[in-house]
Amino acid sequence: MPDVSSAPTQEPTDRLGRPLTDLRVSVTDRCNLRCTYCMPAELFGPDHAFLPRSELLSFEELTRLVRLAVGLGVRKVRLTGGEPLLRRDLADLVASLAALDGLDDLALTTNGLLLPTHATGLAEAGLTRVTVSLDALDEETFRAIGDTTASLAGVLAGIEAAQAAGLTPVKINTVLQRGVNDDQLEDLADFGRRTGTTVRFIEFMDVGTSNGWRREQVVPAAEVVERLAARWPLEPVTGDRPEEVADRYRYLDGGGEVGVIASVTRPFCRTCSRARLSAVGELFTCLFAAGGHDLRAPLRAGADDAELTERLAGLWGARADRASEQRATTGLTGERVEMSYIGG
Ligand code: SAM
Ligand code: SF4
Ligand code: SF4
Repeated sequence: MPDVSSAPTQEPTDRLGRPLTDLRVSVTDRCNLRCTYCMPAELFGPDHAFLPRSELLSFEELTRLVRLAVGLGVRKVRLTGGEPLLRRDLADLVASLAALDGLDDLALTTNGLLLPTHATGLAEAGLTRVTVSLDALDEETFRAIGDTTASLAGVLAGIEAAQAAGLTPVKINTVLQRGVNDDQLEDLADFGRRTGTTVRFIEFMDVGTSNGWRREQVVPAAEVVERLAARWPLEPVTGDRPEEVADRYRYLDGGGEVGVIASVTRPFCRTCSRARLSAVGELFTCLFAAGGHDLRAPLRAGADDAELTERLAGLWGARADRASEQRATTGLTGERVEMSYIGG
């Protein structure tokens, strides 16, 4: 089989001149929480048909696609889901991805509940970093958002386990919703300062069509920064990566960093160099796409590396997505993939 990693492949840019540097890989559509803004229990109940195991890409298939994507310029891979830690033997996948030449950064986004069991194994397998989603430090709010009887202490233990395993600095993702958890803002920021984690406040997005999104529920990033700065003076941090989605700030008193992701109020489509791969091998070129492009069919039909690379490069080359910028002018309409299917 030809090995494209040694063949001279040109790194593609899309129709807006954006390179492909970043790949999010969903390893499962299942989850052990039912966050109301992501997998509302009314729609993801006991009768929901999750993907059968045979449909999921195997670790060999996943590793092959990631290797080819690395050949096209991908430097950063993030494993996600659903809840990625529900995928059996995930550390085996981490080990084979970590061995790929040219991949600089291999991260994982998780709700943290299973990290106490898995953090050490993942770190030993070569995971570089972990992001834990945490929307509240108040037990009642945590349980209401996650629609769960699981305890907040489980997530906090997960964060500690990740730190103990050396998966540092741990990042915390918080989706703020007005009237739901915006009262948690200062407590979560303080948690970040105390624990040496970097909290990033994400604007609630209209991903998918099932979470009942309304613009009034979005807490604008500018408001978040204003509230934080009123309590702890801040200065902006200039990053060296144009594709960075978070606006970063440093606490002037040495309390570390905090970030905001202004996906709704200040879209960053212009520098978006990220593709997403669903658990069944569809490539999505935008978080707000109605559908993905099937890579599993050619993969299972015996396509060689050169053919798959050409398909990947062609899909990226044809890309003109800028949904969040369009939302600002025309609003989003029509079918959109659900967040739990492609993993944020
Ligand atoms: N289950 C894992 C977790 O929660 O970290 C990984 C998958 S989850 C879909 C990835 C991230 O997407 C989480 O940080 C979650 O809070 C975020 N997310 C889900 N729905 C969202 C929405 N409508 N707007 C903004 N972020 C969202
Ligand atoms: Fe599950 Fe993550 Fe979605 Fe919550 S945000 S329901 S933890 S996939
Ligand atoms: Fe990228 Fe699409 Fe999000 Fe714009 S809307 S930043 S193109 S994923």
